[in-house]
Amino acid sequence: YTAKLRRHDVEVYDSTADRAAHRVRMIGHLRDAITAGDLSVHYQPKTDPATGQVHGAEALVRWEHPEHGRVSPDEFIPLAEQTGLIRPLTTLVLDTALATCAEWRRQGHHLGVAVNLSARSLSDTELPTRVGKALRRAGLPAAALTLEITETAVMADLGRSVAVLQDLRALGVRLSVDDFGTGQSSLAYLKQLPIHEMKIDRTFVLGLADDQGDAAIVRAALGLGHALGLRVVAEGVEDAVALALLADWGCDLVQGYHVSRPLPPDGFQQWLDTRNA
Ligand code: C2E
Ligand code: CA
Ligand code: CA
Ligand code: CA
Repeated sequence: YTAKLRRHDVEVYDSTADRAAHRVRMIGHLRDAITAGDLSVHYQPKTDPATGQVHGAEALVRWEHPEHGRVSPDEFIPLAEQTGLIRPLTTLVLDTALATCAEWRRQGHHLGVAVNLSARSLSDTELPTRVGKALRRAGLPAAALTLEITETAVMADLGRSVAVLQDLRALGVRLSVDDFGTGQSSLAYLKQLPIHEMKIDRTFVLGLADDQGDAAIVRAALGLGHALGLRVVAEGVEDAVALALLADWGCDLVQGYHVSRPLPPDGFQQWLDTRNA
């Protein structure tokens, strides 16, 4: 019995140690990637489902790891948050996205850009100042930028988040609640937040065409968002049926593989040009 237990202990220790070592290596690589500018940003269009008009794009960070290949942001964003790397990462994505947006505008496409903020950033009281500086560097009006935040992030430290959000809103930046419907306290806090936009989580949108429950949730979220005067975006639109239903229901903007996957800057520019041709 003791031998078995010991072996079990050793195994657990080994795998934990392995995981810890892997984590430390990944953190080092992520730090290098940020300093070397090896992260890139892809863009996924936000379009009007009724007219097809392009309103802007969401910036999504990408990391091509020299050994592990592409690492998902769902994996390295949490690492960045736990290690303080999130601040330089956010600044990098923000500067890149704003410079790209300024370039679209020079090419005659009057678009906005959306950048994701992590939970940690919302308790960073310096963030509004840094965002203001980034906008000035890019020479863009604040209204060109939307910041996407999850409700879980806001709830984590409500007092501080609301103060940061109010400063951001005072700058003229647009604020969007991401992954709506997946958090705990979706309704009570919504009217207290200084937000402009609500994004219905893709888990509800994916089932739209076949699942009456999902369809009901999406319609209820649309009704709620509109009653609060918000712009409502549906993410995860993967087929024409979902697109048609959302257009029918008055959804303001859609995002998803059916319209376009997230694209590198040159690919996005081409996508825009062929669409307007
Ligand atoms: P998110 O903000 O909810 O972003 C939407 C995710 O859905 C993206 O995954 C996008 O590629 C994916 N997606 C888009 N259309 C479809 C579709 O039709 N079907 C399906 N199944 N998926 C679709 P991605 O790029 O892997 O990003 C994952 C998450 O990582 C993001 O979720 C966001 O929370 C985080 N993230 C990405 N970039 C950044 C960043 O620059 N900063 C921060 N803080 N977080 C980021
Ligand atoms: Ca987002
Ligand atoms: Ca989302
Ligand atoms: Ca998400």
